[in-house]
Amino acid sequence: MARYTDSVCKLCRRESMKLFLKGERCVSEKCAMERRSYPPGQHGPGMRRRKASDYSIQLREKQKVKRIYGVGEAQFRNYFAKATRSKGTTGEVLLTMLETRLDNVVYRLGFASSRPQARQIVRHRHVMVNGRAVDIPSYQVKAGDLIEVKERSRSMEAIQDAMKRFGRRGEPSWLTLDKAKMTGQVVQAPTRSDVDLEINEQLIVELYSR
Ligand code: SF4
Repeated sequence: MARYTDSVCKLCRRESMKLFLKGERCVSEKCAMERRSYPPGQHGPGMRRRKASDYSIQLREKQKVKRIYGVGEAQFRNYFAKATRSKGTTGEVLLTMLETRLDNVVYRLGFASSRPQARQIVRHRHVMVNGRAVDIPSYQVKAGDLIEVKERSRSMEAIQDAMKRFGRRGEPSWLTLDKAKMTGQVVQAPTRSDVDLEINEQLIVELYSR
């Protein structure tokens, strides 16, 4: 996946919504969306938005979801292809696949303060699934899986900080968390109603069905 190296706050400004890519900063007054909620770039502040076409609305929705979960275009298309082959509703299956990525679960359990940070924590082998180290952020967890921070990594400042601030978010109902042991378990696969993000997945289905 090509690495995006510019300011991630520009992504939020482009999508006109908070994508929560910078942890604590996102809930502070330093958040760029609080101070400059217009699109980035030279023409951003005075830009008069033309009436958006159906295509651009669908495209923006897809870009937004990709950016929230930190997934590249090719990988996103793979998820979509798998979702279309499944028995469920394509858009909902797509979202639940994204939601059950290991990096997202690490974020949801509060071991990281943002999804990008969770991705790094997984890549650096600080996380185990069912007792084995897993360093693949896209690893799909399933019901019954036990996710834990490795014992030697539990004192890491970034993880400790994230856990301290986690109270505000709380874990979703499809996961259980043992804060003291830094472990979490997948109780059941998430459903659409467990994905508490402003997403209209149907727009993405329409985009790829063109
Ligand atoms: Fe987005 Fe967070 Fe930057 Fe705010 S601080 S613009 S929510 S990445």
